[in-house]
Amino acid sequence: GKYVRRPLIAGNWKMNMDHVQGITLLQKLAWTLDDNKHDYERVEVAVFPPFTDIRGVQTLIAGDDLEIVYGGQDLSPNDSGAYTGDISGQFLDRLGCTYVLVGHSERRTVHQESDELLRSKVDAAYRHGLVPVLCVGEGLEVRQAGTHVEHTLEQLRADLDGLDAEKAAELVVAYEPVWAIGTGEVAGPEDAQEMCAALRAEIEKLYDADTASKVRLLYGGSVKAANAASILRERDVDGVLVGGASLDAGEFANIVRFEH
Ligand code: PGA
Repeated sequence: GKYVRRPLIAGNWKMNMDHVQGITLLQKLAWTLDDNKHDYERVEVAVFPPFTDIRGVQTLIAGDDLEIVYGGQDLSPNDSGAYTGDISGQFLDRLGCTYVLVGHSERRTVHQESDELLRSKVDAAYRHGLVPVLCVGEGLEVRQAGTHVEHTLEQLRADLDGLDAEKAAELVVAYEPVWAIGTGEVAGPEDAQEMCAALRAEIEKLYDADTASKVRLLYGGSVKAANAASILRERDVDGVLVGGASLDAGEFANIVRFEH
């Protein structure tokens, strides 16, 4: 069944929480979850803090031996050199990151990141032992036109073009309909399932059934404690990528503790 894939509950802090606030948030989250070690056995808990927080997050997690993992919100396609303002996957790896977000819709729109660029970021992540959390999803116009599945699968194919099966099996893909991000507008569990099933079928087509059964597929967009369980219950949904609600330790902990 689906629970061969350990659910991933991921908090994307975006450009919130300076390095002091970030530590406070993570400490609160750890205290809340620490009451119940069982939480970590069922699910993997990950946070995606701003770059300037990551050193502090690393120190806290290592010092207190927390089972929370973390990653960067973006990475450069390059490893080092004259790329002012960019952060290399190498640096993230050295800071103990497990994951890195690639192609979040805010990167695609605010920074005009193309699928071609994202394809090279996927390579850069694997080059440094980071697992990419590749974000895909359609905007409102595409949803209203009814072409959301084709649009999202096109992003997937472009962003993974030529990636080998061994790497693909480790991948996490987050379906985030842009119209549901930060809007309070949640795609229904059946919308999340529709897209995650289509993504898994496409991965099977690109690779094979074994690879498709290993890839974890997340839903993201206005997830909170009140709606997480119904989304996570869907057959092909293996986790959630949480923005706003991950900035509240109690709320995020309640998402981690969703009922099967
Ligand atoms: P939201 O953001 O939960 O605030 O809608 C999700 C995301 O953009 O990852």
